[in-house]
Amino acid sequence: MTEKQKIVLLAACSTLAALSWFSSTLSLLPRAMSDILSLVAAVLGVAFIGHSALKSLLEGVFGIDLLATTAIVASIVVGEYLAAAVVVLMLGGGEVLEDYAFKRASRAIEKLIEASPKTAVVLRDGEEVEVRVEDVELGEAVLVRPGGMIPVDGAVLKGRATVNQSSVTGESMPVEKSEGDQVYCGTMVELGALEIRVTAVGEGSTYGRIVSMVREAEENRAPIERTADKYAKYFTPLILSLGIGVFLFTRNPLRIASIFVIACPCALTLATPTAMVASMGNFARKGILIRNGESLEKLSGVDVLVLDKTGTITTGRPEVDDVRVLGDRSEHEVVRLAATAERRSEHPLAQAVLKKANDLGIKPEDWTDFKVHPGLGVRVEKEESSITVGNEKMLKEYSIPLSDEAIEYLTEQQAAKTVMLVAEGEKVIGALTVSDVLRNDVKDVLTEVRMSGGMKTIMLTGDNAHVAKMVGEQAGVDEIVADLMPHEKVEYICGLKAKGHGVAMVGDGINDAPALAIADVGIAMGLSGADVSIETAGITLATDDLGKLPKLLRISRETMKIIKQNIMFAMAVNLLGVILSIYGFIPPLMASVIHESNALLVMVNSLRLLRLD
Ligand code: ADP
Ligand code: MG
Repeated sequence: MTEKQKIVLLAACSTLAALSWFSSTLSLLPRAMSDILSLVAAVLGVAFIGHSALKSLLEGVFGIDLLATTAIVASIVVGEYLAAAVVVLMLGGGEVLEDYAFKRASRAIEKLIEASPKTAVVLRDGEEVEVRVEDVELGEAVLVRPGGMIPVDGAVLKGRATVNQSSVTGESMPVEKSEGDQVYCGTMVELGALEIRVTAVGEGSTYGRIVSMVREAEENRAPIERTADKYAKYFTPLILSLGIGVFLFTRNPLRIASIFVIACPCALTLATPTAMVASMGNFARKGILIRNGESLEKLSGVDVLVLDKTGTITTGRPEVDDVRVLGDRSEHEVVRLAATAERRSEHPLAQAVLKKANDLGIKPEDWTDFKVHPGLGVRVEKEESSITVGNEKMLKEYSIPLSDEAIEYLTEQQAAKTVMLVAEGEKVIGALTVSDVLRNDVKDVLTEVRMSGGMKTIMLTGDNAHVAKMVGEQAGVDEIVADLMPHEKVEYICGLKAKGHGVAMVGDGINDAPALAIADVGIAMGLSGADVSIETAGITLATDDLGKLPKLLRISRETMKIIKQNIMFAMAVNLLGVILSIYGFIPPLMASVIHESNALLVMVNSLRLLRLD
């Protein structure tokens, strides 16, 4: 049944039920007339719910729908037509409301989609042409004027402006953008104008990824809803036999009707999804994208937070601060060859090398035979020549010997810096040292994380132990594990899980994707990270702002708390109601009113999560 049909049917039912109720309390119509009105409403409803109840019964599932159908039929049989109609309304209304709530949650993002720019002003042959966004090519220059929306992801070529990125990051403070800065599709230029080099459009852009994440989150809503059916599996047969037992004892059909009506676990059905939806909506506004309810649920049970070093604890924008010649090539040549090797790498270290080359006005060559060794380095080959850039292990991989001079340089520099060795063919020709700075809020964030709920923090890195120790101590992590290859990071996380820990892994991407996937919850930093990491992570922080972590953890725990409250409350009311109905204290109509308020209270309780900060 489509949503529209559902709503029409519900509207018909509720109008009939309301008419019947009015006419019977105000005695406008003869009793029989108002009874017929509610009977029609109830029968319409049975057609609506009974269909799915029958289907699940045939599959051997005692679901909520079955209980509801029994309640409606029982009420009809004993002549409590109005009570039957109210149960129908509740059940159908709950479903429609749930749909509505799910929609609301993704609306923050959908709004962005609707408002996304459709056209862009592109510079072609020195002329400004307005084209559709789909027709913008990568690498082209796009112009954005004051008050305009940025139509693509890209890097600022020229100009300076304040940009409001709230649509993507949830941060309402505008940020300064100037040459070289990254800008996102869907954000607004407030003051100033920008010329932007396009790095991603449409599907590939930040906005495109948000769209696909929202779609996925919507497709994944089924598992959450099933939690209520899990209870129903035991609950339904129990209530059904209880009803029959009571009837055999008392021979009072009104009591069974009340029992069935009040036992309908509608509130229970709503307990989890409404809370999940409310907090996902809240998170979306804060620039935190939750892929599915499962991630949120698991996050609340996490006791170890694993963080990657480069790009997560550090800014991921390392700088080359020393170039050492270790052979007969000049410094200029060492940088040029290193940049040639790193040209196609996305690793932060590669970016540092390319920046250095750019600063020196060096143009790297484009060798196409390129290999990445995650956690080790890169290598390019052309005809008989090769360039290898990486750490000691990388050189060992290719059996490239280290000269005494190189070893000396390594030992001296490795205490504080990451050293990248550069080899031409079989010979080391030089080295670059790179230092990366800590994110300025990392220490406070980790302290807050530790304080809230006694979480342990562990830093994993492929870098050498000296640098790892220095960075880890500055950041204040509880444990430091260095010299790890990407697959060893995965093994380490598996080890933690095997010991019974709930593990969340925070990483920026490039080679963290496997670790993000294997952790109980993967948290990807920033939409500008590597595509794969965002696809494998359950949670994505739209900006690479570590400061969102404590909030994320706190609200996830709060969500679980509210879900538990909801379930406890719903069950308590159900149970008490059933007991009172057994003893005949609650007539069917009152049963349906209690039942309705129960569901309403659960919903209101969940909506508190929308406001949480
Ligand atoms: P992290 O765990 O800190 O994110 P990685 O696992 O990405 O670090 O890399 C580990 C080490 O491998 C680096 O410290 C560096 O020595 C080397 N390495 C990785 N990628 C590159 C590259 N593109 N160029 C040079 N060295 C690299
Ligand atoms: Mg990394």
